[in-house]
Amino acid sequence: MDLIFFGPPGAGKGTQAKRLESEYRQISTGDLLREHRKKGTEFGKRAQAFLDRGDLVPDDVIFQIVREEIAKGGNLLFDGFPRTRAQAERLTELMREFGRGAPGALFFKIDGPKVIDRLLKRQRADDKPETIQNRLDIYAKETEPVIDYYRSHGNFHEVPADLTEDEVAARIRSWLTPARQLQQ
Ligand code: AMP
Repeated sequence: MDLIFFGPPGAGKGTQAKRLESEYRQISTGDLLREHRKKGTEFGKRAQAFLDRGDLVPDDVIFQIVREEIAKGGNLLFDGFPRTRAQAERLTELMREFGRGAPGALFFKIDGPKVIDRLLKRQRADDKPETIQNRLDIYAKETEPVIDYYRSHGNFHEVPADLTEDEVAARIRSWLTPARQLQQ
């Protein structure tokens, strides 16, 4: 089963995704965009201003990147994508097109004030206070509806993301284990 990790910025999605790196090929749209920006590709140039402001990068860029990654195959773990209901709907179609089943969607549940603390401790260029606020506003407006989408479309699960890193990892593991057995 492919996986989707979603939740507010600073919820620990990327950290937890990396712990599953040997089992799942990571498709982190944020990481992929930062790489494009670093290499100065056409996508990187188009994404630059959006990344700096913490705004959502246009879907045509996101889906060209994601499509290429899905085509490489393997067990997939989407981190930070989909971020809007429209992206979620389009991803459902794309997975069908590639003959893949519905992914398991894991929601990282955590309050706004806790993520602000975590984000201010990170050293990323887009973790400035103004940008953080914009990303949280966009999250509330655009990404929260994705919760309902996956609640009503398939294998939805949530994890309390304010536990320690190891505790969150253990919760994820116990969710994945029976899900995997069912697949076999
Ligand atoms: P992240 O690393 O997931 O926090 O993403 C960092 C930034 O990349 C976001 O603030 C957006 O500007 C952009 N981004 C990442 N994923 C997406 C996506 N699925 N759709 C649009 N923009 C994205």
